[in-house]
Amino acid sequence: MNVSDTQIAYSIMQAAGYGRAEGVDDADVIFLNTCAIREHAEHKIWSRLGVLKAMKQSKEKSGGLVVGVLGCMAERLKEQILDQEKLVDVVAGPDAYRDLPRLVSKADEGQRVINTMLSQDETYADIAPVRVDDDGISAYVSIGRGCNQHCTYCIVPRTRGIERSRPAASIYEEIRELSRKGYKEVTLLGQNVNSYNDKSHLSGRGGVAGGDEHGLDAISDLELETSKMKELPLVKTAKGFRTVYRTPTAGITFSELIDNIAEIDPEMRIRFTSPHPKDFPDELLEIIRNRPNVCSAIHLPAQSGNSEVLERMRRGYTREAYIELVDRIRSIVGEDVTISSDFISGFCGETEEQHKDTVSLLERVKYDQAFMFAYSMRERTPAHRRYVDDVPEDVKRRRLAEVIDTFHANVKLRNEAQLGKRHLVLVEGNSKRSDKDLAGRNDGNKKVIFPNNPIPTLSQTLMHTNKDKLEMETTMAQQHAKPGEYVVVEVTGTTGISLTGRAIARTTLAEFHQSKLNGSL
Ligand code: SAH
Ligand code: SF4
Repeated sequence: MNVSDTQIAYSIMQAAGYGRAEGVDDADVIFLNTCAIREHAEHKIWSRLGVLKAMKQSKEKSGGLVVGVLGCMAERLKEQILDQEKLVDVVAGPDAYRDLPRLVSKADEGQRVINTMLSQDETYADIAPVRVDDDGISAYVSIGRGCNQHCTYCIVPRTRGIERSRPAASIYEEIRELSRKGYKEVTLLGQNVNSYNDKSHLSGRGGVAGGDEHGLDAISDLELETSKMKELPLVKTAKGFRTVYRTPTAGITFSELIDNIAEIDPEMRIRFTSPHPKDFPDELLEIIRNRPNVCSAIHLPAQSGNSEVLERMRRGYTREAYIELVDRIRSIVGEDVTISSDFISGFCGETEEQHKDTVSLLERVKYDQAFMFAYSMRERTPAHRRYVDDVPEDVKRRRLAEVIDTFHANVKLRNEAQLGKRHLVLVEGNSKRSDKDLAGRNDGNKKVIFPNNPIPTLSQTLMHTNKDKLEMETTMAQQHAKPGEYVVVEVTGTTGISLTGRAIARTTLAEFHQSKLNGSL
């Protein structure tokens, strides 16, 4: 999410006449885009600021250096950051990036300035991100901002404000443009990405018909006329899940949005993060199953495997409802759908038995990927007001290590079950370990590493299946796969989390799925 925000900040600065510096040494302005989710993230920024301090002093005679702190930490610590050793000139919260050029010019005049106003409707819908450091293959597309969930441990609703959905038309336009530029994968981003609910077209202020409606403000239920509201259906949630706020009426929902996006370019993979488990109605699961280019990779952050802890976290579901959803996902989308999760170890009041429930959930689900953290108490969260951070640090660490070990033991089993299967891999480039190998990701977002041998196209291999191997090798035009190309890879091993394999053929997304359907693969 911060990568995406940085691209928006670049775009705004570029429009104001700033260019990109070659490196930090040659910059007149340096922004640090920050995260406040755990204490560790903030520590990293404080130490980075320490390094910039020396740089700022050495540049004092040659025109100076403006240092800015952007994002969630800026929102959280405001004055504290400005006061810290008089190093930071600009503090800008996640909704204040449009103000950056003005803030920098004030800083140039010697002022220390701050804008951490949160907005009800800012989605930066009209800002075309400057994708400075990406590979030209995969891009992030922000579809919404903020969060209304208020999980008790989480600072996000405080730092990023209320949930807003970017008008669908501007999202379609951005993705069409990425397709024209040759991108092969987009990841839709939002703090609660599948709670997407765009009503801008109902207000007369936006629309889905294309044209110049970009940048129109997202609109809340309150702003809609009551008569229009009554006609709207309620948002569907997954069975056994509830929202902690009033069930909203549905405009363009996430299911509709992703279904429309999937049609833009059938060769472009669609992923999304970070979703909340409550917003997985069956219709969304069916779209994931039916659309070959909507990846079968579902992030389903559980946080804990114990219902009492989940209640204290205010997640809106029980262990049982969560397991039922996992089973439904596997039965609708298919057993090979990859499921990933986030876990927090040592939340306030977590007992040893409750921790064991988390370990047993990991054993039950067998996740393909997991992001696991020790609980970090954040000021201004409901947990900070209500609960005591009473699990000792060493116990948190030990529990976290158990959660991590359980994840690793089980992902190995999941990956071993893939041996001999053929996966569609989007090539990203050489593997980090060896330039004789290529690396890419399969549909489930797993890294796959395979030797970079010349390979034929899939249609060539299918045509030659009945002929002998020698003839095949002499008649087929074999080529190395390039970054951005799809390759069929047969899985031959696993390194733990990643897969290793052998490339069979170059192909397209549509051809691969067609061949699977007609049984030729
Ligand atoms: N919207 C997503 C989460 C975004 S935050 C969701 O609802 O799942 C990413 C992850 O950071 C969370 O899933 C949680 O596991 C972790 N996290 C958030 N606050 C935390 C805290 N105070 N301490 C430790 N981990 C935390
Ligand atoms: Fe934080 Fe919960 Fe919102 Fe996720 S859903 S961002 S964990 S408050």
